[in-house]
Amino acid sequence: MAITKLENGIVVTLGENNRVLWNSTVVIDGEHVAAIGDTAKMKERYPSAAVIDCAGKIILPGFINTHHHFYSTLARGMAPPGEPAANFVEILERLWWKLDIALSNEDIAPSAQIPLIECIRNGTTTIIDHHASPSCRDGSLDRIENAVREAGLRASLCYEVSDRNTPGAGIAENERFIKKIGRGDGQIASLMGLHASFTVSDETVEKCVGIANDAGVGCHIHVAEDAADRADSLTKYGIPTVNRLHNLGVTGEKSIFVHCVHVDEDEMDILASTDTIVVHNPESNMNNAVGVTKLLKLLEKGILVGLGTDGMSSDMLAQMRTAYLLHRLDNRDPRVAFTEAPRLLLQNNAEIAARQFGIHLGEIAPGLPADLAVIDYHPPTPLTEANFLGHLIFGLVDASVDTTICRGKVLMRNKQILTLDEERITALSRELAPEVWKRL
Ligand SMILES: [Zn+2]
Repeated sequence: MAITKLENGIVVTLGENNRVLWNSTVVIDGEHVAAIGDTAKMKERYPSAAVIDCAGKIILPGFINTHHHFYSTLARGMAPPGEPAANFVEILERLWWKLDIALSNEDIAPSAQIPLIECIRNGTTTIIDHHASPSCRDGSLDRIENAVREAGLRASLCYEVSDRNTPGAGIAENERFIKKIGRGDGQIASLMGLHASFTVSDETVEKCVGIANDAGVGCHIHVAEDAADRADSLTKYGIPTVNRLHNLGVTGEKSIFVHCVHVDEDEMDILASTDTIVVHNPESNMNNAVGVTKLLKLLEKGILVGLGTDGMSSDMLAQMRTAYLLHRLDNRDPRVAFTEAPRLLLQNNAEIAARQFGIHLGEIAPGLPADLAVIDYHPPTPLTEANFLGHLIFGLVDASVDTTICRGKVLMRNKQILTLDEERITALSRELAPEVWKRL
């Protein structure tokens, strides 16, 4: 692969020692960053490299989304049949569990490609997805894998096991895919997916944990998203959700417990002592009106909390700002969340990706993967390491991503997606969606 220079931008390296470098160039050789430095010096050192002009732009590491549902795409604009859902369980029963079972084989690729395009548009280069399509389970993860590879992004994939239709449904698809991916190639990784505590029996969970442990992968499961999940665990097993899942062996440093809205302090201590990952999805929690995750408390306990979108969008900066606003309001304290919300996105999601993919993302440095988001931004006030978060929360969040690069490959340039044909794919999905809605 040829050498490419992202020239004359403002480079924000992130990583442990974040640096903001004006008039700088990032040099990409193959899949990795080869050098970062002053633009004039890099012109001398790499005179014949291809140039992408980044004047008036910020160069950041590509964003990471640690919980997404590609399959939710075709619900957009749909009127769910019957009375509006009045609570979380009804939202599942009337919308998501009707939609996922209505998906056919031909729907899976476009319903993944559209959010993948939106990830590229938003500078998101790595995604941890949670898939469900009960009418066409077998091979569904391969179809998504193909879409991810074609898009040029990185993704960790799993199928959500649930007993709600057939006991243990989805275990085989996860097992097959986990074995196929093995240790992964840095682009595609796998997890053992489970829907949620209240839809899986002990027997099902134990089977899943056995497969995950044998393969050395974690589990990816919704936990205490709504009070109903906690109530179910207390009623059926006499213990809260995290205790139940911990007793069954689901906790651990590679396992992702999504949401954790309704967990008590003892459950937080279990999450902390087992180094289990929590992923916070504020927009989804607000949309489903399930409650507010006690984010500051989880962080205080030393739990690794990341940030996801739960299928709501593929815009990580917007999700970060929602987290910032939500926790200020929830705590009635305008002093909080200014560092915490960006930390979830910029540091913690990189740590979570490192556990899943075994690679160092979320930082621009020589030798590290060239996953980059180039964003249109003329800072209206001085921009330095000291005030970067202010620019991130109040400026960059509303700026447009111009160029997205993953594994050294340019996926979008001048806001044109290069790897997927957006017009063709959306035309197809507009034809498929009404058929899916009819099947509901
Ligand atoms: Zn989810």
